[in-house]
Amino acid sequence: MIPYGRQSIDEEDIRNVVEALESDWLTTGPLVQRFEDEFASVTGSLFAVSLSSGTAALHGAMNAAQIGPGDEVIVPAITFVATSNAVIYEGGTPVFVDVDPDTLLLDPKQVREKITDRTRAIVAVDFGGQPCDYESLREIADEYGLILIADACHSLGAIYRGKPVGTLADLNCFSFHPVKPITTGEGGMVTTKSPRLAERIKRFRSHGIDRDFRQRTQAACHRYDMVELGYNYRLTDLQSALGLSQLGRLNHFTLRRNELAAQYDHLLKGIHGVEPLARAPGATHAFHLYVVKIGEDSGANRDQVFQAMRRQEIGVNVHYRPVYLNSYYRNELEILPGLCPQAEKVYAEILSLPMYPTMTEADLLRVVDILGVSLNAKNLAA
Ligand SMILES: *Cc1c(COP(=O)(O)O)cnc(C)c1O
Repeated sequence: MIPYGRQSIDEEDIRNVVEALESDWLTTGPLVQRFEDEFASVTGSLFAVSLSSGTAALHGAMNAAQIGPGDEVIVPAITFVATSNAVIYEGGTPVFVDVDPDTLLLDPKQVREKITDRTRAIVAVDFGGQPCDYESLREIADEYGLILIADACHSLGAIYRGKPVGTLADLNCFSFHPVKPITTGEGGMVTTKSPRLAERIKRFRSHGIDRDFRQRTQAACHRYDMVELGYNYRLTDLQSALGLSQLGRLNHFTLRRNELAAQYDHLLKGIHGVEPLARAPGATHAFHLYVVKIGEDSGANRDQVFQAMRRQEIGVNVHYRPVYLNSYYRNELEILPGLCPQAEKVYAEILSLPMYPTMTEADLLRVVDILGVSLNAKNLAA
């Protein structure tokens, strides 16, 4: 099976993790801080706070933004459920906004239309690794006094108008799940230029306690104060060892993903009715996903192509069904289908083709070959 995404682990990654395992610290030791410092430096941000997952990072961002009951937070209709779940964890209400059907990114015009006097924040999701239109989103956020949060779980390594992802929003959230741009197994990070927001997230990830174990040791003091309700959302030294070593190869990973995307672009020109998602000018893409639309004039439908390709051991996938169509959202938020028509329409056409740095040219040729065959009506009937 050629999967849609997978990690790339080398000998050095393994050596670094083993070394950490043999050190005095397994959980919050010196490597957590080093990984955060290095991550801040690579993304050009002032502060980076690690957490145990991308979901925890989003939850921490909502907490730092002081989202609470009665507050509305704008999220795109097409994203992973964790984006809007994080709003609900803090008692807020996610407000789904339709996406641009060409890019699956938030459409700033439609964002503006959904703003009410209860809106507190906008979450921009860099779908597939392509940065959102941050210039327009920043303008809207400033005009209405909203916090701009980036769900950059797909886009580490991307650049928007000369600025790296990680510096584009007030709070920028990353995931280190194995299919994401770099991995720590599970893991996440929030970057910000605000020392106040960074402090809040640090406290939040460790039970709401004002000082961590190392700070208490250094101060030779056993007392701590829990000042608010927090969680155990800490990343470990073991994971940070892997993160540091992966971060060193981020540029290589991003370049490789862009090479593969260019090859897909080229080969797909020969397939009628199959189009990659559009790319806005002025940004470099991180290509976490390579998503195509199986259009009507391909003569096939997405689910049939999906099944035909899966039967041939191509691990194609679909990212994502509009979040509010999940039963939890339909039941709890009483959202009806039809809320975001563009998202619902494009959802029926999208297919994620395999994309990961260790994918070979032969793998890619096989994917495109089987895609071509799968579009053929005779094979679909099988
Ligand atoms: C992966 C992902 C998350 C959640 O990250 P985890 O590390 O799996 O918790 C959130 N949002 C998006 C868009 C993602 O792709």
